[in-house]
Amino acid sequence: GTGAPTRAAALLREVFGFDAFRPGQGEIVEAVAAGDNVLAIMPTGGGKSLCYQLPALIGHGVTVVVSPLIALMRDQVRALREAGVEAGALTSGNTPEETDAVWDALHDGRLKLLYLAPERLASGGTQRMLAEAGVTRIAVDEAHCVSQWGHDFRPDYLRIGELRRALGVPLAAFTATADTETQGEIVTRLFDGAAPTTFLRGFDRPNLHLAFQPKDQPRRQILAFAAARRGQSGIVYCGTRAKTESLAQALREEGHSALAYHGGMEPDQRRDTEERFATEDGLIVVATVAFGMGVDKPDIRWVAHADLPKSIEAYYQEIGRAGRDGAPAETLTLFGADDIRLRRSQIDEGNAPPERRAADHGRLNALLGLAEAIGCRRRQLLSYFGEDHPGNCGGCDLCDRPPETFDGTEAVRKALSAALRTGESFGAGHLIDILLGNATDKVRQRGHESLPTFGVGKDLSRSQWQAVFRQMMGRDLIRPDPDRHGALWMTEAARPILRGEAGITLRRDTIDRAKAARPAVK
Ligand code: ADP
Ligand code: ZN
Repeated sequence: GTGAPTRAAALLREVFGFDAFRPGQGEIVEAVAAGDNVLAIMPTGGGKSLCYQLPALIGHGVTVVVSPLIALMRDQVRALREAGVEAGALTSGNTPEETDAVWDALHDGRLKLLYLAPERLASGGTQRMLAEAGVTRIAVDEAHCVSQWGHDFRPDYLRIGELRRALGVPLAAFTATADTETQGEIVTRLFDGAAPTTFLRGFDRPNLHLAFQPKDQPRRQILAFAAARRGQSGIVYCGTRAKTESLAQALREEGHSALAYHGGMEPDQRRDTEERFATEDGLIVVATVAFGMGVDKPDIRWVAHADLPKSIEAYYQEIGRAGRDGAPAETLTLFGADDIRLRRSQIDEGNAPPERRAADHGRLNALLGLAEAIGCRRRQLLSYFGEDHPGNCGGCDLCDRPPETFDGTEAVRKALSAALRTGESFGAGHLIDILLGNATDKVRQRGHESLPTFGVGKDLSRSQWQAVFRQMMGRDLIRPDPDRHGALWMTEAARPILRGEAGITLRRDTIDRAKAARPAVK
């Protein structure tokens, strides 16, 4: 059934505050939650801890986590507690009171995760207490520490196999070390040589073609993309429910077979659409992100985003629904300044704590950086997930047609100065009027025609300036303030550019495209 994945998705959102799994996480979480013995090899920064933390919340009983890094354990315990999860650590850094509190919680059956420093395993007392405590799973972080030939060897890790045998519970081992010799040692020492379910797949999906386009006429762009793929199964993701309906209608008018799908629809209507999509050839589903969980059609030939996804993780997950059969599949993601404003204000207006909001901005920035990338997109995408790729993938729009760039330092400085001289109180439209030297009513009312920046930007058109502002937002040099009608304020990242200590390269093609789309306003 879909019970476990839905529960996992809900926990992912509610406890961890993430909108999508990172590459690999979903499958690993499922296997760990199902009680498999698991060996997962993921790059550093790939998001291993979630793969044992989340399953610990699904079942009952305690998950024991063995990790060699005391500071990291304490950090994780703090973060879990802040998220309302009962977690504790037994390490040499504990005060006696802390240790007592952890044993009490364990004894009362309150604990979901118990972090354990490996040296604790040397004590027979610990093993005995754990045997009585209702441990249902063991997770081993940095599992390569069990390898006697590696440089991180921890002799106490050799006791983990013994603990697993004593408790008779499944074990999930995690490492970033991918060489086969180390893997062999992990299997021998932690699993007594019985092959665990192993996850080593790299994150790259070479059969997916990656492309982004700035929005100029978004509906026309999506219709053109679909027209070139007539008769193929595809998904169009939209930011709003209303748009799924209107875009599906527009596709039908062009002779496609297309259906809308969103969370506001009746359950049977949704089920009907899911079923038709699974069985019919060449159907297009125009959907919100509500469509996807449980969609495992292998031959989806394309995925398009009519609006920018929430984060780089959501992007990867959504495009990843195409081409599961391994045959070539195409993706296209549209983005515009309106998306950036919307996504930023969704983050700022949410009631998440400040650190979480900062992290959300960071994940959005990563996606925006990818949208306005200058080199191979696949390389940039994978590097965000910790995986190296040499670039020149031959499967992205930037490899197909390298973008022209130009030194945008001067333009960016002018734009920043227009924002600063007007008290960081205005949106892009008004700032562009100032740069272009347009004496609009608003400009005259505020006396902005006497600013030194008035008219210094006549070398670019309005749409070119819009592209510059969008790239500045994408690089997080300026941010709209949701409490002041989207007034743009300058971030720390912009300071070196303004001071003349750093330059910036911008993409020319997205600017020229803007120029071609609409005649320059003079
Ligand atoms: P690893 O142990 O693999 O090096 P971590 O578990 O420390 O990686 O995770 C690295 C970072 O990725 C953390 O900041 C974590 O909050 C973030 N992260 C993990 N999973 C997700 C996700 N699904 N969406 C967004 N961020 C995530
Ligand atoms: Zn490429």
